[in-house]
Amino acid sequence: MEIVVQKYGGTSVGSIEKIKNVARRLIKAQQGGRGVVAVVSAMAGKTEQLIDLAHEVTDTPDMREYDVLLSTGEQASGALLAMAIKSHGCKARSFLGHQIKILTDEAFSKARIVSIEAEKLLEEMEKNSIAIVAGFQGVDEAGNITTLGRGGSDTTAVALAAVLGAGVCEIYTDVDGVYTADPNICHDARKIKKISYEEMLEMASLGSKVLHARSVEIAKKYCVPIHVRSSFSEEEGTMVAVENEEMEKYVVTSVNYNRNETKLTISNVPDIPGVAGRIFKPIAEANINIDMIIQNVGSDGNADLTFTVAQNDTKKALEILQGVARELKATSVSVDEDIAKVSIVGVGMRSHYGVAAKFFSTLAKEGINIMMISTSEIKISCVIEEKYTELAVRVLHEAFNLSLE
Ligand code: ADP
Ligand code: ASP
Ligand code: MG
Repeated sequence: MEIVVQKYGGTSVGSIEKIKNVARRLIKAQQGGRGVVAVVSAMAGKTEQLIDLAHEVTDTPDMREYDVLLSTGEQASGALLAMAIKSHGCKARSFLGHQIKILTDEAFSKARIVSIEAEKLLEEMEKNSIAIVAGFQGVDEAGNITTLGRGGSDTTAVALAAVLGAGVCEIYTDVDGVYTADPNICHDARKIKKISYEEMLEMASLGSKVLHARSVEIAKKYCVPIHVRSSFSEEEGTMVAVENEEMEKYVVTSVNYNRNETKLTISNVPDIPGVAGRIFKPIAEANINIDMIIQNVGSDGNADLTFTVAQNDTKKALEILQGVARELKATSVSVDEDIAKVSIVGVGMRSHYGVAAKFFSTLAKEGINIMMISTSEIKISCVIEEKYTELAVRVLHEAFNLSLE
C-alpha cells in the first residue's frame, strides 16, 4: 500500500472550520487509494497559551510537568480531527506519542526521537482508517511525556514517513511553500520550487520556521521527500529533496532571520588554556546549545567571551555563567536579548568570492552594526540589533537579487 504522511500546522487546524477542511482533505487523500497518516499540531496560539499558564504558576516550571502540559494542545486537535472525519461516516483514530509509541530521549522540551513503533498505524490503515498522530510529543524510557521543541510536529511527521516508508511527507502550512525569505516580512520573496536538503537544513537551523530543523535532518538521512504546501489551496508547493540538476543554481538562495536568541558575555577571564572548557562544559551539561561564539583578547592577558543561546535557555545559562564567573574571577556577566541573527544561505557560495563583502557592505549602507559573525561553506550569519531585523532581511534580499527568477 502506498502511504502518505500529511502534517497540518497550527494555523491549518486553528478553528473548527479549518479542522473540518483538513478532515475533507484527508478523506480525499484516502479515497485516492493511499494509506493516510495525519500528524497534527495544536490549534494556533494554543501552545503559547499553555506556556503562559505555566509561567503564571512559576518562573521556573518543572520541565517534566511542562511537557505534560504542552502536549495537551496536540491531544485536543487530534481528537477533534478524528471526530470530524468520523462525522462523514469515515474511519479514523487518534493516537498520542506514547500510544504508538514514539520513544525519545529524556531532554524535556527538546527531546529527540530515538525510535518509533509503527505497527498500530499500519493496522489502522489496513482497516481503511485514517491514523491521526499528535505531533510534537513522545515518551521517554521511564514513561514520561516529552516534547520535541517548538515547531516539532514537522519532525514527528517526517520521522513517521521515514519509518513507514511513505513516498512523501506533505507539510501543510499557512504559506504555499518555501520562499527566498519569510514572505510575511519580505513581500518580494519568491517561491522556490525545489530545494536541496542541505540548503533547507541551513535555512531551518538559521531560524526559518517553515520547517523544524530536525525534520530536515531526518528527511535527509532517510531520503524522505518533503512537500511544503498550503492547506488552503491545491497548488504545488516546494519539494525538499536530494540536490539535482533541476534545482536552481543561485549563489545565494535565501535570507533568514532568528529573533529567538540571547547574547551573553563574560568579561575579563584569564586568556589561558582550559578556560573556554570551564565555561561551556556546565552549559552543555544543562542541555543548552550554544550557537555563535566570539572571543576578544585584550592586551592585559584577559579575554571577553560572548556567545548566543536560545532565548528560552537564557535564565538557566545566566545562572550557570554567574557561577563560573565567580570561580574564574571574571569582572562581569551581561545579557542582551534585543538581538537578531540574519543569515544568507546558498550552496553556490562554495565557488564564489565576494559574497561576505557584499553582505557586510549592504548592512553598513543602512547603518546596521554587526556584533558577531559566523560563516560556513554555505552560509554567512551576523548578529545585529533586533530592531533592524526586517530592514536587514529586505535589503539583503534585494542586494542578492533574490526576487528575480
Ligand atoms: P505551522 O504552524 O503550519 O507549522 P509555522 O508558523 O511554524 O507554521 O511556519 C510557517 C511560517 O514560516 C510562515 O507563516 C512564515 O512566516 C514563516 N517563514 C519563515 N521563513 C520562511 C520562508 N523562507 N519561506 C516560507 N515561510 C517562512
Ligand atoms: N504546537 C507546537 C508549537 O507550537 C508544535 C508545532 O506546532 O509544531 O511549537
Ligand atoms: Mg511549524
